[in-house]
Amino acid sequence: MKYVDVILPLPLANTFTYSVPDEWAESVRIGMRVIVPFGKKKMYTAIVSLVHSVTPTIYEAKEIVYLLDNEPILRRPQLKFWEWISTYYQAHLGEVYQAAVPAGLKLESETLVCINPDYEAETQLSERESKILDALSDGKPIKVVELTKVTELRNVMATLKHLMDKGAVEISEELRQKFRPKTETFVRLTENATKEDNLRIIFDDLSRAKKQLDMLMLYIDLSKCLIPAKQREVSKKDLIEQSGASAAVLNGLIDRDVLETYLKEIGRLNVSEIQTSEVSRLNEFQQTALNEIEKQFIEKQVVLLHGVTSSGKTEMYIHLINKVLAEGKQVLYLVPEIALTTQLTSRLKRVFGKRLGVYHSKFSDAERVEIWNNVLNDKSYDVIIGVRSSIFLPFRQLGLVIVDEEHESSYKQYDPAPRYHARNAAVVLASMHGAKTLLGTATPAIETYQNALNGKYGLVEINQRYEEMAMPEILVVDTKEAYRKKQMESHFSDLLIEKIAKALANHEQIILFQNRRGYAPYIECKVCGFVPHCKNCDVSLTVHKVFNTLTCHYCGYTEPILNTCPMCGTPGSLSTKGFGTEKIEDEIKLIFHDARVSRMDLDTTRSKKSYDKILSDFEQLKVDILIGTQMVTKGLDFERVSLVGILNADNMLNFPDFRAHERAYQLMAQVSGRAGRKNKRGTVILQTTSPEHPIIGQIIRNDFKAMFATQCEERKLFRYPPYFRLIQIVLRHRNSNVLNQAASQMAKDLHAVFGERVLGPNVPIVSRIQNLYIKHILLKIEVDASSEKAKNILRQITNQVIADSRFKALIVSLDVDPI
Ligand code: ADP
Ligand code: ZN
Repeated sequence: MKYVDVILPLPLANTFTYSVPDEWAESVRIGMRVIVPFGKKKMYTAIVSLVHSVTPTIYEAKEIVYLLDNEPILRRPQLKFWEWISTYYQAHLGEVYQAAVPAGLKLESETLVCINPDYEAETQLSERESKILDALSDGKPIKVVELTKVTELRNVMATLKHLMDKGAVEISEELRQKFRPKTETFVRLTENATKEDNLRIIFDDLSRAKKQLDMLMLYIDLSKCLIPAKQREVSKKDLIEQSGASAAVLNGLIDRDVLETYLKEIGRLNVSEIQTSEVSRLNEFQQTALNEIEKQFIEKQVVLLHGVTSSGKTEMYIHLINKVLAEGKQVLYLVPEIALTTQLTSRLKRVFGKRLGVYHSKFSDAERVEIWNNVLNDKSYDVIIGVRSSIFLPFRQLGLVIVDEEHESSYKQYDPAPRYHARNAAVVLASMHGAKTLLGTATPAIETYQNALNGKYGLVEINQRYEEMAMPEILVVDTKEAYRKKQMESHFSDLLIEKIAKALANHEQIILFQNRRGYAPYIECKVCGFVPHCKNCDVSLTVHKVFNTLTCHYCGYTEPILNTCPMCGTPGSLSTKGFGTEKIEDEIKLIFHDARVSRMDLDTTRSKKSYDKILSDFEQLKVDILIGTQMVTKGLDFERVSLVGILNADNMLNFPDFRAHERAYQLMAQVSGRAGRKNKRGTVILQTTSPEHPIIGQIIRNDFKAMFATQCEERKLFRYPPYFRLIQIVLRHRNSNVLNQAASQMAKDLHAVFGERVLGPNVPIVSRIQNLYIKHILLKIEVDASSEKAKNILRQITNQVIADSRFKALIVSLDVDPI
């Protein structure tokens, strides 16, 4: 008898053994998906992790219901990589599977299925198939489990698979919509118009047809058709929308043989047909650095490229990628945030065309399935640019992994498990492929820099910006003093206002950075001091004026803004405290009536489109002032930004976390780097109440090394990374008494083994979220000690506490290397 051990998409510690019916005994292999029954009346799509013939002794193996694949959907070394993540980050394999494989590849009892309306009925349907199609016939998606009214669940699953193969049934309505090939009408210059002389004649001709002329100019601007390296396709819809003119104007241009339309199938990924262009030539510094990287790669598996902002790191990546592609290998290019993929994608697409694939969480599940399958089947995509989850794609053979902005904390997954750090996991993934990893940044993470200094990683530095442009000038404004001297208007110092006015007059762009979204962090009653709090969490509610609401940033709980204090009943007594991006936007508009202002934060970027829109508007100079949270600090490259305003450095510097100073430095250095990238030296206005803070001085002098040295001293003294490894234990329970008891018990048990390495239990800054009380215990382990052993002991103690009958419903999660 043949058996398979499978991984279920559930937080379970073990794999489970199932028997394989004869019909699949020959074909089943590791990495294939099988449908299996588990628990009471539930079916899951599991992954085969082992094929064997050992009959299990403790339980009787159930049969697999269906073998979903003809070929494995995983490639080596993916399972090995999952195991590493599972062990290192103390997550169950099932949790890793959940995170790694897009939901669209998992057919489960809870999955929604629907009939494919394009399906033309075959005569050859089994009785069961017909029954299921009947049940789905009204076109609405239904949960698989509901089909059990027709026949029993295991038959439903198997029959559905048949129907899916026949194209009769699909997973969920929403996915079907997106899965159909889409076509869109695009616009381009006719052959006649492309000739330069003709274009001039056309312009003359159009001088009496103002609207047509405007539209043509807009087309030229959008398509960049006169700059071959920057060309892009323009859809009819975009052209008409952005011109504000009617389709008749476009038809006028078509009649004149200036523009023509063409229809194109667009994948969900918008792979454009644009001719790929040559890569830029590297300058001397860049070439030297590139040679150095390649030299170090001979010995080191990982190299850190520490290059100041705008030194051309991206250009160097492009050169390296080209070399790896020439060897027939693949490249994974990790970026910390979706906002960054937008700009980079168009830049990289010009070079790599269809070979570039993009993968991130704002894509629908169907889109992710498509990329997964394309990578698996070796179709196109040799270069994948993506956020952290793209480390799980089924790469054939990676030759290089690039981790851009490697210092970014968004590489760490916080919830749910696996709580992995994509940079560190990528290094492991790369080594499993025998590939190299390049970490790039202007502000390395302390841990990374330490690894570079102690020789574990190679280190290559560039201290020159491209075209030897100067680093921006940083002017510090002491806001405490400015308030006293009445040199502040709202949250803007006179100096900042003056510089903004000047930049606007010069048609230059401005970025204003405030590390807080919403209008204000809270409101307070001027009479009784009452502050509205979330009813589920232990935090004050943030003011969102656009929606006229008070909202909890932890659970989303929302209530209307009050007119009267509910505590003392005084009308109009509630006033806002502090300020967020929304307020900055409001107030800057009051000061600069004519400026075009846009805002980029979590609230304005709920959809993938909105990112693209904000960034492309700014890029196309339709916006003068861009206000944003940390989203605007990252590696964005805008040519006309001459001024950056940091509105309040204090909340970054005073945040109670051992990484606060490192992070404040990174954020401020990064956002400053957006100023003055081409043509002109930029200016940064840094507003703070503590201008004498060491970090501020280090920012002004662009002195990363000094920052590193002072931080390291503190970290050594207080036993933090890079000298110690941290594991954060988070305990949660509905009842605070039970929680306190459990936390004390666990700390005691840990203390018995680890002694002084255990800190806590502590009450975190936010001590209750979604009605669960929270306590933290921190474990600090010497870097040279065996963290594997420590984790095993920790796991045992955790299991004991969870199993303790006094602490029913206690949730304990482990966060290895917390950020
Ligand atoms: P970084 O990633 O280090 O911040 P970028 O790669 O974004 O720097 O480069 C900054 C700007 O300089 C970009 O607009 C880029 O196109 C330009 N640039 C850098 N190096 C070159 C080069 N060798 N040739 C042409 N343009 C370059
Ligand atoms: Zn809440």
